Amino acid sequence: MSEYGLRSEIRVPNLILFGSNTIEELGDLSKKFGNRGVLIYGGSSLKNSGNHDRINRILKKNALSIEEISGISHDPDNELVESITKEIQNLNPDFIIGAGGGSVIDVAKAASIIATNGGTVGDYWKGKSFTKPSIPFIAIATTSGTGSEVTKNAVITGKGAYFKKSIRSDFMIPNIALVDPTLTLSVPPDITAETGLDALIQNLEAYTSKNAGPITDTLAKKGIELSGRYLLRAVQRSDDLEAREGLSLSSLYGGITLLNAGLGLAHALSHPLGIRFGIPHGKACALTMAKVIQYNYSARNEKYEEIGMLLGGIKDPSVAFTQLTDSLGISTKLSSYGVKEDDIPLIVEESKGGSRRYNPIDHDDATVAKLLRELL
Ligand code: NAD
Repeated sequence: MSEYGLRSEIRVPNLILFGSNTIEELGDLSKKFGNRGVLIYGGSSLKNSGNHDRINRILKKNALSIEEISGISHDPDNELVESITKEIQNLNPDFIIGAGGGSVIDVAKAASIIATNGGTVGDYWKGKSFTKPSIPFIAIATTSGTGSEVTKNAVITGKGAYFKKSIRSDFMIPNIALVDPTLTLSVPPDITAETGLDALIQNLEAYTSKNAGPITDTLAKKGIELSGRYLLRAVQRSDDLEAREGLSLSSLYGGITLLNAGLGLAHALSHPLGIRFGIPHGKACALTMAKVIQYNYSARNEKYEEIGMLLGGIKDPSVAFTQLTDSLGISTKLSSYGVKEDDIPLIVEESKGGSRRYNPIDHDDATVAKLLRELL
């Protein structure tokens, strides 16, 4: 069987709407679910960017009655999800809109489904299944990074604990994913770099995943090419719409490919690194990526050579990746984020499960610990 005959399965939202200024269609899209909605967002960034006014104007023009819930910051925890769930249950809306980065979309996604199924985040962490659909959910991405607007999971942090864990269900795939690159023009350079690296690495790890197939490969390869071409450009000139468009498309492809092909070791390690050392998610993924590429190279050499060419015009993908992080001014030395040798066993332990199973090469804990020590 050739690579084109490999089994490939793809799940996506009922509607993915992509394109500059597609936010103008939000009113018509929302009305299909009813007249009463809840808009969930983070806080100041949606307001300062002008995106909050823009969304409100569109919803008002369509005579929709909208309640608002805000106050979500990075690494949202289970208690926050549960308090927002209660607010939603009291409001009993026809639809929910989550507008923000991955943190906001994940909270809105989780609260929209727990509102109909009952229980707590902890119940679903422990394996309880969702049996009922979510309140109709529209996800609007305002960063180019996580692709959470199309995925079936929400990453939630344990309150007062050092862990992040997903809850997931096919019922959690948003009904509508709206990706309008103009909403990302306000993202500052540091967050553009961190979130853009997440988009790139999601495509990269999905492309080389054990679970990759021809459908996801096509999207992931294009996603890598677009991040390679536009990430630095968007960081250097935040108002470069072409760069924002390319990066937004890469992020969307990253979401679709992670959902359907899985990720790898760099993503698995990003959770303990991010949560224990306060490192933003995309940057936490980037810290180990070049080393993980070196470790995995022999299992996917042709694909990795393509990645090197797409990112830096050279065959060595770890060098091409490092050139990119260097040009973004991102140190990949773990000690510069406060990681010490003594922390390594815990990081290894907390990286288990999840994405590690899709890494192209199987690996034991001692190998992962060695890889981390080499990055100190
Ligand atoms: P984020 O949502 O935490 O946002 C980062 C910062 O960007 C925030 O300060 C926010 O206010 C600001 N911001 C957002 N939009 C902006 C805009 N248009 N203009 C100016 N500032 C803006 O970061 P993120 O990287 O988008 O999301 C990270 C979270 O997503 C993590 O918790 C990660 O684990 C999770 N995640 C989820 C999935 C999934 O499929 N569910 C996938 C990957 C990551």
